[in-house]
Amino acid sequence: PSPGAPPTIRVESVRFSYPEAPRPVLDGISLEVRPGERVAILGRSGSGKSTLASLIRGDLKPDAGTVELGGVPAGSFGDDMARYLGVIQQQTYLFNRSLRENLRIGREDATDEDMNNVLERVGLRTLVERLPEGLDTLVDEAGVRFSGGERHRIALARVLLQDVSTIVLDEPTVGLDPATERALLKAVFATTEGKTLIMITHHLQGVADMDRVVFLEDGRIELEGSPAVL
Ligand code: ATP
Ligand code: MG
Repeated sequence: PSPGAPPTIRVESVRFSYPEAPRPVLDGISLEVRPGERVAILGRSGSGKSTLASLIRGDLKPDAGTVELGGVPAGSFGDDMARYLGVIQQQTYLFNRSLRENLRIGREDATDEDMNNVLERVGLRTLVERLPEGLDTLVDEAGVRFSGGERHRIALARVLLQDVSTIVLDEPTVGLDPATERALLKAVFATTEGKTLIMITHHLQGVADMDRVVFLEDGRIELEGSPAVL
């Protein structure tokens, strides 16, 4: 696929089991996400949502079936995947380096202005401006410096900075209060205009603005349709 336009994501009859697990986490999942579409993935804890995200990212390979981005198997992109797909994983990875270095991962040429703009969108600009060292502040690995919700928003800011056509967010609003969550989803929608957005969530909030919802249960897609089906 070309880096500019979002590729169609096609998940076809995918079965996946973790080694030594008694039964498959995903068992016959098919899903097509069109360029620019916004899809919410819902389902109980343990239903396989994050696993599906890892398969789309090519970090896991299906036991059966295929996962393709623009007709190319997700597993064959390797490091190139970062040019197409921006992901925030459920476990937020921040490094014990400066805020600036953390934000620049995947977008080396981001200027301070770019970073301030995106920090504004995720509601962190004021906080960062008040830090004596601003963007040079060290993000402590143990998470002493920033709260859980703030760390999550830093990771989100990083992904929103990236020049990618597809974004996969695994529970982007976990740990946030409802008002912050609303503001953040608004920012996500504004920043991802024209991009494909796959958002894994437990909350119904924000889902009304998605084009489609997919509900995972017992390894299968149990329900799929416009947000109105919920
Ligand atoms: P949550 O809403 O809690 O994030 P999820 O829908 O994202 O849940 P997954 O993380 O995809 O669920 O996990 C699906 C199932 O696979 C769970 O039962 C989980 O325990 C299991 N699982 C996840 N990762 C591994 C792993 N690395 N090895 C073995 N089993 C795993
Ligand atoms: Mg998960």
